[in-house]
Amino acid sequence: MDEKIGFIGLGIMGQPMAGHLVDAGYPLAVYDVRPEAVAVLTRSGARPMASGCEVTEWADIVITMLPDSRDVEEVYLSKGGVLDGIRPGRLLVDMSTISPQVAVKVADEAASRECAMLDAPVSGGETGARNAKLSIMVGGERQVFDRALPIFGVLGKATYCGKSGAGQVVKACNQVQVALTLIGMAEAMVLGKKAGVDRAVVLDVLSAGYAQSRVMDARGGRLVDGDFQPGFRSHLHLKDLNIIREAARAYECCLPGSALAHSLYTAMQANGWGDLDHSAVVKVIELLSNSAEGA
Ligand code: NAD
Repeated sequence: MDEKIGFIGLGIMGQPMAGHLVDAGYPLAVYDVRPEAVAVLTRSGARPMASGCEVTEWADIVITMLPDSRDVEEVYLSKGGVLDGIRPGRLLVDMSTISPQVAVKVADEAASRECAMLDAPVSGGETGARNAKLSIMVGGERQVFDRALPIFGVLGKATYCGKSGAGQVVKACNQVQVALTLIGMAEAMVLGKKAGVDRAVVLDVLSAGYAQSRVMDARGGRLVDGDFQPGFRSHLHLKDLNIIREAARAYECCLPGSALAHSLYTAMQANGWGDLDHSAVVKVIELLSNSAEGA
């Protein structure tokens, strides 16, 4: 473990991911705008840093796990950011979910400074991050992917998807399916309840049959209990649905289910539910159906 890693973005996902890298024996430096997030990792042996360029100064490999495209642009491209004064040969890995176009733009900027970059968004949620069982979708050059494989192995399972941006495209495909599965579950629960069947019964039966899914296993219990602590914040899923909308426009795809999901997640935001878990989309279906909250 002689390569030094810098990790930027220590939220719900980044915190446990960075923790696994420390546990695996990598020398690790960390940075986040929230000092309390940095302090948790410092107690585990990581080195605290004060900016993106301070991280790059020290580390051979920089990993970012940030909310959105504009955060990634800011962290990499601004003055004092990761690319500011970077030396050639560094490896940059952005594991945030962002627009494929921004991923390509930042990778091109890195290449102009003779540094390689991968887009490597993940699926598996907070549980996958905690258990080091993330599915990692990677875009960039194949030999760069090979260099990063030992690190990905500490966090989960990586799949090479193609050229720069391809990891983000596959992640967008994943988010279409997850959103529509959550909406299907929410509709089933509200229909069952309004027709007089207990939610727990609906969940038990659907979990044992053809409708079963990983999403249902992870989130079904929350719909029954009305527990919507994040998890995956619904405003981040809305951000992903915006990425999907842009991609649908760029590639001339008709994605009616995604358009519906975009509307329902916009309604979550408008009702002040943006920081609840994305499974709380059931609250919108309840509202539209005049079904008692949490019932
Ligand atoms: P989060 O909001 O919990 O964490 C983001 C972290 O980035 C925060 O600690 C924040 O302080 C930090 N940050 C923001 N701007 C920064 C800046 N300029 N410099 C340094 N730090 C900064 O989000 P999360 O749930 O960990 O998600 C991170 C990414 O992973 C998102 O793109 C999300 O879509 C994706 N993702 C999340 C999940 C999930 O279940 N939470 C699952 C898969 C993918």
